[in-house]
Amino acid sequence: MRLDPPTMLFSLILTNAFMVVGLFVAASGGRDRERHDGIGKWAVAILLETLGWMLIAARGHIPDSLSIVAANGFLSSSYVLILAAVYEFQQRSAPRWQYFVPVILTLLIAAILIDDIHGRFIWGGIVFVLQLVLIASELLRNRATHTGRAWRLLLAGIAIVVVVLGLRSLVAMSGQFILAQPETGGVPNWVQVLSFVAVMASSLLGSIGFLLMVKERTDREVLHLAMTDSLTGVPNRRALMDYAERAMAQRGGRSVALLMIDADHFKRINDTYGHPVGDEVLRQLTRLLQQRLRGGDLLGRYGGEEFCVVAPDADAEGALKLAESLRESVASAVLDTEQGKLSITVSIGIAHSTADAGRALKDILAEADIALYSAKKGGRNQVVSFS
Ligand code: GH3
Ligand code: MG
Ligand code: MG
Repeated sequence: MRLDPPTMLFSLILTNAFMVVGLFVAASGGRDRERHDGIGKWAVAILLETLGWMLIAARGHIPDSLSIVAANGFLSSSYVLILAAVYEFQQRSAPRWQYFVPVILTLLIAAILIDDIHGRFIWGGIVFVLQLVLIASELLRNRATHTGRAWRLLLAGIAIVVVVLGLRSLVAMSGQFILAQPETGGVPNWVQVLSFVAVMASSLLGSIGFLLMVKERTDREVLHLAMTDSLTGVPNRRALMDYAERAMAQRGGRSVALLMIDADHFKRINDTYGHPVGDEVLRQLTRLLQQRLRGGDLLGRYGGEEFCVVAPDADAEGALKLAESLRESVASAVLDTEQGKLSITVSIGIAHSTADAGRALKDILAEADIALYSAKKGGRNQVVSFS
């Protein structure tokens, strides 16, 4: 196989150009025009990189000030835009010098060393490597960025270019290679071939990695929304039942208690003070209940004015104690609302998944419901365990 540099450069430019189109489509997608996830900046980065390579490809046909100085400026600017994309993804802003200093340095180096390709590879390479290291360190610094897996692709793309730029600098320092210019058409050396492959790999891996990072985060946000009650901010019924199922599966016969908690005469609160006050009471009730929980207990909104606590490891006595303390803390609290101070009580039904493992969650829920019903019948503001 004869890898001829102009052809490699041409395919590099072509793949990058198509990538830019795809990235701009991704950046403009979605209904939310005010999205700030960094994809737009990333698209501009790859566009600048493509322009840089186009200028390099035209070397010999256009003035060196364009094909060397401007080209290197575009490449450096593209790394600046990648850094900006990472910052935007993290919802942070970068110190301004991180944007301007590398580009100015690169332009200076390219202009001063316009006739010295070895010097450019060494000094320009150092600036590029520092830019890439800065991107990688900002990527790793923020936990929000490196949850999930996609950031590894991005890091791999950066690592590949750093290694190849480093190699190029070393080779240039050793002075052993004649670093052929792209247009010479001479026999390509491995440094050149490696450089093209690295640049192509990094823009592919990096772009896919960045898009996946955005997707991973969106997935996490959607999952969180799907599992959270919007009024109170606690887990919703789906999340609660997931947690209960998992707790019961893990315990292998040990006790998991379910506390079904229902606000007493809640309809009256709505009727007397209005629905917004009812909502506020539900929020305050949630906070009161949460304060009494122990680690491992999960409070969720089961529906309407009904809450549920999943208490793994609670035996009959422990569950009863917990329920009593919840009931008591609600009954003794004074809730401050826009319509003045008011108080509320709750009734609680308790059920267990005890030693006889393999019982279905819905059966335990049904038992907790029966217990809750007796608490209501018994006069409310009380705790009843299913027996
Ligand atoms: P009981 O002591 O028997 O439980 O009486 P109750 O009035 O609490 O029970 P009922 O089931 O008759 O009424 C529940 C009320 O809870 C009716 C409904 O409007 C109200 N509710 C349910 N969800 C919400 C909500 O999100 N916000 C407000 N403000 N009210 C809600
Ligand atoms: Mg009620
Ligand atoms: Mg109810």
